[in-house]
Amino acid sequence: MRIDLHVHSTASDGSYAPAAVIQAARAGGLHVLALADHDTVGGVAAAQAAGAGALHVIPAIELSTHHAGNELHMLGYYVDPLEAGLLRYSVRASGAREVRMREMLDRLAALNITVSFDDVLVAAGPKPDSIGRPHLARALLQRGYVQSMNEAFDRFIGDDGPAFVPTRLITADQAIEIIHQAGGVAVWAHPRQDRMEAELPRLQESGLDGVECFRPRVPPPDSDRIAATARARGLLVTGGSDWHGEWHGRLGDFFVDRDDVAQFLDVGGI
Ligand code: AMP
Ligand code: MN
Ligand code: MN
Ligand code: MN
Repeated sequence: MRIDLHVHSTASDGSYAPAAVIQAARAGGLHVLALADHDTVGGVAAAQAAGAGALHVIPAIELSTHHAGNELHMLGYYVDPLEAGLLRYSVRASGAREVRMREMLDRLAALNITVSFDDVLVAAGPKPDSIGRPHLARALLQRGYVQSMNEAFDRFIGDDGPAFVPTRLITADQAIEIIHQAGGVAVWAHPRQDRMEAELPRLQESGLDGVECFRPRVPPPDSDRIAATARARGLLVTGGSDWHGEWHGRLGDFFVDRDDVAQFLDVGGI
């Protein structure tokens, strides 16, 4: 069984619409996929409809939070995409992301780089629920200010870049609460290895359910060690590609096996 528990669509900053993501997942040989867009479940229904009978689609979301002075991403799995609190959060996040995008554009303008909000929308294609930095990176590319998306992050909008503005909407603890209210399990996305063991006890006290352990570019000795740490603490273990489009390779090239994430799948009755 080939499983990918972390994939994005055009509902946030992915390159493909939900149905096209599912098509790519089937072509790539996946059997189970979690659509985990930033701060929205807006793509889940279309993905599930496209997957019906062929591919199991787990409803998911990736919440942008701040924790101990850093950005921390919290995945929510098996959430009810119609739950009121989750939808309320998404509307709030969508508005906050738009305000924050305009702040980043102001910072770029101060550097004599003029990109308009409309340029960002054009770069995004269909209007996403969650406007984000990759859309801005594409706008900078389209306007000729950079030669690649990576250059946009390296020079301007990476976490340490001069035009970066964080989205400080909720704490990790609040994210866990939102996910639980929506009937889901909360999983720490792509934890930084140097922070993980120090932060786990407090996040677990707040109800953290699991840790994303298996990812591309994390070599097996490291991911196995992370998984062992998580299991020793009684946490669920997950894995996913964080695929956003072809610039991340082919969907399905990275996958985890059922054995790697059996307990997590059991929770969802899969
Ligand atoms: P945002 O949620 O708007 O802060 O955007 C974060 C997203 O930008 C991540 O989910 C990635 O898709 C992308 N991203 C962040 N850092 C980089 C980077 N250094 N290079 C390429 N993409 C990045
Ligand atoms: Mn992203
Ligand atoms: Mn993330
Ligand atoms: Mn992600």
